[in-house]
Amino acid sequence: MNSIQPSAHLAQVRYEIRGALTRRSRELEAAGREIIKLNIGNPGRYGFATPAHLREAIAAHLADSEPYGHEQGLESAREAIVAQQRARGARHLDVEHVFIGNGVSELIDLSLRALLQPGDEVLLPSPDYPLWSAATILNSGVPRYYRCLAENAHLPDPDEVESLIGPRTRALVLINPNNPTGAVYPRALLERLVAIAARHRLLLLADEIYDDILYDGAVFQPLAEVAGEVPALCFGGLSKVYRACGYRVGWMSLSGDPARSREYRDALQLLAALRLCPNVTAQWAVRPALEGAPTIRELTAPGGRLHAARQAVIEGVAASDFLALVPPAGALYAFPQVRADRLAAFDDEAFALRLLEEENVLVVPGTSFNVPASRHLRLTLLPTPAQLAEVFVRMERVLARMAEE
Ligand code: PLP
Repeated sequence: MNSIQPSAHLAQVRYEIRGALTRRSRELEAAGREIIKLNIGNPGRYGFATPAHLREAIAAHLADSEPYGHEQGLESAREAIVAQQRARGARHLDVEHVFIGNGVSELIDLSLRALLQPGDEVLLPSPDYPLWSAATILNSGVPRYYRCLAENAHLPDPDEVESLIGPRTRALVLINPNNPTGAVYPRALLERLVAIAARHRLLLLADEIYDDILYDGAVFQPLAEVAGEVPALCFGGLSKVYRACGYRVGWMSLSGDPARSREYRDALQLLAALRLCPNVTAQWAVRPALEGAPTIRELTAPGGRLHAARQAVIEGVAASDFLALVPPAGALYAFPQVRADRLAAFDDEAFALRLLEEENVLVVPGTSFNVPASRHLRLTLLPTPAQLAEVFVRMERVLARMAEE
């Protein structure tokens, strides 16, 4: 029997955020159970609306959206991205250096496809947002992980980052604010990482899709400004800050010394042209989004729903006999862990399955984010604070049962 075999690359690729647990959760829902889902950072599914002026801009331009557009994205949208990035200190940036895609997801793949030769290495955070690992592997690269441990507030150790660099290392990926940990990187740390990239002539790739989602006075430092003349590709989008995941709009902008990145820019343009253009309709929302007030801050400030959700998580952990947490400073997730001194034997995947089967709660195990032998779980902050409080009651019940077994 000659069955059709998929690409061998895929044997190494996982995406558990929508993986086997999610499929099991759908089966349970179909059988009539009500599942509290904390697995996907998809604000529209939890009652968060896209700002009305973005919707209106799209509606007003429907008739202009019928032809293919420019391969790098609408000029007016790219002008707004250039203005935002220049205001953040990006150097040598114009519309030629901005690429819009069908979500940051498409651009992560494109950025690595344009860069990697087979066997080239990419420095990735562990935990990571798993698409970064997947896109590295699918483009014949090799992930090399630097650790972002809870003991170090989930921040990278620059000495460790540098120790991983070899002759095949091409790029350093930063996710800031971080998914899944919620860490927000201080400027001094970014300066050290930029110095490493400069010393070893690495391309910096900064996934900044959560740039404006910050709690408790945390400050986001755009990488482009710190990078200065060092080539940096910075990613942003409408999915999270503007609660518009379904629009599928993201962008990346290449700053720094153009003499060092000209051929890479041309490669990005070729790949952008091969996919013809990003979805035109939704790009009309980019300029009004970037030129309007950042309404997400009403949600993250005291009194806002995301602020209250984060508070409910912090309180849930404080009341737990088993859990510990570095409170998230940004993004839409918490990454608590089960303490080894309270529950010695712990398998995050087995726990997540039990939590789903026994208590109707869907979370993502930490190992899904390319952390070996994790004691962590990732929860989104998107359910209501009351639902999150209930989730902690149910998690505690399962943990207590496991401790007694
Ligand atoms: N990067 C990070 C860190 C994310 O968390 C996500 C989505 O959750 C993405 C990229 C993909 O976003 P998009 O909807 O723009 O494809």
